[in-house]
Order: sequence, then structure tokens, then C-alpha cells
Amino acid sequence: METAAPALHEVETMERNIRKALADCGLEPSTMLNALGETHSVISGSLPVAAMFPNRFKPKDVDIYCPEVEEKHMLEILCDRMDLTLDKRVDVHYPRHLAITKILWLSSESAAVNLMIVKGDNAAIAVFQFHSTLVMNILCSRGLYCTYGDLTFEGEALINVSHLLDAYTAKRNAKCFEKYEDRGFTFKTKLGDYDRYANHECGQNPNCPATVRTLHDGHSSFYPLTLHIEEERGVEPATKYTAFDGKHSVAWSLGGPLCGRGNTYHNSFVASIELFNKTEEDIAGHNLDELAGLSGRGRAG
Ligand SMILES: [Zn+2]
Repeated sequence: METAAPALHEVETMERNIRKALADCGLEPSTMLNALGETHSVISGSLPVAAMFPNRFKPKDVDIYCPEVEEKHMLEILCDRMDLTLDKRVDVHYPRHLAITKILWLSSESAAVNLMIVKGDNAAIAVFQFHSTLVMNILCSRGLYCTYGDLTFEGEALINVSHLLDAYTAKRNAKCFEKYEDRGFTFKTKLGDYDRYANHECGQNPNCPATVRTLHDGHSSFYPLTLHIEEERGVEPATKYTAFDGKHSVAWSLGGPLCGRGNTYHNSFVASIELFNKTEEDIAGHNLDELAGLSGRGRAG
């Protein structure tokens, strides 16, 4: 099962949907997208899902993930350029979400922002510790990565089974799943529970939790934003998989019981890939363990 590259008109529609979702949340779209680029931050959570399903629901707040080194910079942008006020700041420790160290809540008359501060310099690692594939989408200044687009665009999701291992996290997430089920999405714990994946190649199919993925493996649906469409136009949109901020990529595996193999368990991991002077094409064929070792940061779970 291959992810089809979105056509140009789909890319343009997605950009309109992204800008509308940001505006619906009370954030000026271009200012917000530029802020993501300046601070190497990403938006994830419900906003990208709302952009993918524009008539289904409106997110009530925006989740921004910001690397800790950019916290002060992002806060200045949100307060000075976007007229938000800092309401509260707390240190956090989520047992299944170790990348997040702090949350800042900001608001204005029209907007509510949750600013999550992520350990290290790669904010995108936080996304792969989320509760399910439905919310593993990354909006950055360059565009939107739908990393499990084959499932998500069908309204389907796999639960990150590491989140079911402790009662605290499982309970927190049950509420999220209910909210999304009310919006018409389905959740399963095994890929094979979706009929069309009953005979998938475990550990190879990009949607299987046992498969090691990277942002540049060609299996994410990538929707570049206008600023970048010109540079992308020479190639078909979404056939060129770029680092989310030009410097960093991510490797991950959701992990869990190997589909259909009893108790065989595949460990989850997420690792920051720093590209240094390499292009993603340079490293695409390399051994992933070696790549994960490049950084030494960002491993969790
Ligand atoms: Zn599998």
C-alpha cells in the first residue's frame, strides 16, 4: 500500500484549509506560520486534523511544540506580534510523553494556545509519543506532514499501545478517543484489525506499528505551503520529502505487539536526526540505528 502523492490542487486546498483552521482559532495564519519557521516549532494535535477534515469540527485551541532553546523567542512572538497573554506556566512530567518538560498557556480574546516546551532542539520528536496515529501530523512553516495519511484520510487510527500500559495515561487518553469517535473517527490497537490490512507485511508496511519510519521515508503525505510550492513545482508536490525545519528530521517506531505474533513485542522509539551537512537523500538509505545514534538525543519510551 503506497501513499499517493497529493496533486497540486490538493496541495492548494490543504493550504486554504490550514490557513482557515488557524484563523478559526483566532491566529493570523501568516504570522503564525512564520513564527513556526523562526523558532523551529511545529503545530500538532487537533488543528492539522481539522485542516484535513475541514467540515467536521473546529479545534478549540492550538497546540504548539517548541524546542526549549526557543522558548523565550516564541513567547516574545506570541505576546508581541500576536497579542496573546501568558496565563500560566507549569513544569510537567508525563510518564509516556517524556519529551515535554513544560507547558505554557496563553490566550487572547479570540485565541487559546497551549505552548509545549520540548527537550532538546527538535520539537517534532514530541509528536510520535502521542496517543494515536490520528494526531501524528506535523504542521511546520514548510508544510504539513500527515505521517499516517493512508489511515487518517480514511478517518482511521491506531492507538499508540505504549499509552495503554499505565492507568493514568490510559484514562487521560480515553477521553480524547471518545471526543474523536464522536467526530466520526475509529481507533484500533492492531493494524490488521482494519480489513484491508489483514494480510499486511508486519514491520514493513508503513502503517504498521512495528515498522521503523522517518519523516523522509516517502510514506508521509506532505503538503508544502505556498512559499515553498515554487521550489517544489519542479518536482511533483509531495515527492520531495524535506526536513521539517531544514535541519532536523525524525525517526520513530510506535512499537507494540507484533501483529498476529502473540507476545512478541517490538519496542517503541523516537529519535532526532540532525542533518548536519547531509541532505535527506544522502541519508535515506542508511542504517536507521546508525542514524538514531547520530543524535543521542530525543530517545524516549
Ligand atoms: Zn504489523
